[in-house]
Amino acid sequence: MHFTDLGLKAELLRAVAEQGYDTPTPIQQQAIPAVMTGRDLMATAQTGTGKTAGFTLPILHRLFSGERQARVTKKPRVLVLVPTRELAIQVEESVRTYGKHLPVVSLAVFGGVGINPQIAGLRRGVDILVATPGRLLDHIQQRTADLSAIEILVLDEADRMLDMGFIRDIRKIIALLPKQRQNLMFSATFSPDIRELAAGLLHNPASVDVAARNTAAETVAQCVIETNRDQKKALLCHLFETRGWHQVLVFARTKHGADALSKTLEKAGISSAAIHGNKSQGARTRALSDFKDGKLVALVATDIAARGIDIDALPYVINYELPDVAEDYVHRIGRTGRAGMEGKAISLVSHDERGNLRDIERLIKRDLERLVIPGFEASAIAPPKPVQPPRGARKPQPGRPQAQKTAPKPGRPQQHHSGNRHR
Ligand code: AMP
Repeated sequence: MHFTDLGLKAELLRAVAEQGYDTPTPIQQQAIPAVMTGRDLMATAQTGTGKTAGFTLPILHRLFSGERQARVTKKPRVLVLVPTRELAIQVEESVRTYGKHLPVVSLAVFGGVGINPQIAGLRRGVDILVATPGRLLDHIQQRTADLSAIEILVLDEADRMLDMGFIRDIRKIIALLPKQRQNLMFSATFSPDIRELAAGLLHNPASVDVAARNTAAETVAQCVIETNRDQKKALLCHLFETRGWHQVLVFARTKHGADALSKTLEKAGISSAAIHGNKSQGARTRALSDFKDGKLVALVATDIAARGIDIDALPYVINYELPDVAEDYVHRIGRTGRAGMEGKAISLVSHDERGNLRDIERLIKRDLERLVIPGFEASAIAPPKPVQPPRGARKPQPGRPQAQKTAPKPGRPQQHHSGNRHR
């Protein structure tokens, strides 16, 4: 199938061609025709599947087709709710990209930055408003956003918005929208909470399910390095030093951990920055653009800060620590191996994380390959308390043997699980 087969307006096809895309991704093939007919939509799709264009293109088509074309109001006609500011920025960028040959005005509003420029933007008039729920409610309370002309509502990464506790805000916002409207919902998972939200929101929806929860898990090469917790930093530096990595997204579980790890990498001569919720918006945007431009070798991120990070051709994702929630693992590794590119995900797993690893392997329905890095092997039983690694393990030796691949171990020894999970 070709984009031209979808019946999109010429201005949109031109923008798509300028992006270099000719074949719609599976979600685009299914979602674009459904949304163009005006139907509600429930799509199970992760970031990386092309879902943003999957809703942006048909929305733009509808806004500028037939009698609807005339802009009779300065009020927003489309509202896209997203969980994070990064995603807000990226979705709004997509609207600009695909709408560049149409007279569309879009705006992203999100917290953590001054509200006044957003107010000025809303006053000037907006067609497509992309917003995080909290900041949008601020605007509603200040009467600087008027949702009375919304024709299309999109909930993007709905599962993440629920995880982040936005459900009450979302319900408040929905209550303010005109009853007659088109609703589109995107979620990486189809949990009972998502089903409930969908049941109350969507009317006779078309349903698209391209992202089995483990889509990324099938396309990204993944492996696990079992090691001791107190060896992880040295191991990570060793991997950077010996493998010539240049653009690596590293996941840490906590904000503090992300900062500490970024400092360790910097000390080891690996240019790095951390992004997490405590960083100012300016610092996050700067770190992300330095990373994209290749000025930073490593970006250390927490799960929430990494949502929506969209880097074409990101080659490596490292799980310095495994996430608490197995689904987050799939989200994390979905940052690499995008749109057919090769990607690799490596997880450093210590004794206390073996339960998390089992949950992940159960979710993705396969055992991950184990890689042994000589000098950094996990001790046979969980160390009782942190011990310093042997001096030799910190500095890689020039003639160090290559990593050895081992077959996945279907039944891992139970005594390795310390049960001491700091969750
Ligand atoms: P998304 O899932 O919306 O975050 O998109 C993932 C990535 O795929 C983005 O970098 C898009 O620019 C890219 N992309 C979207 N549609 C296509 C397409 N039809 N062909 C190739 N790449 C695409």
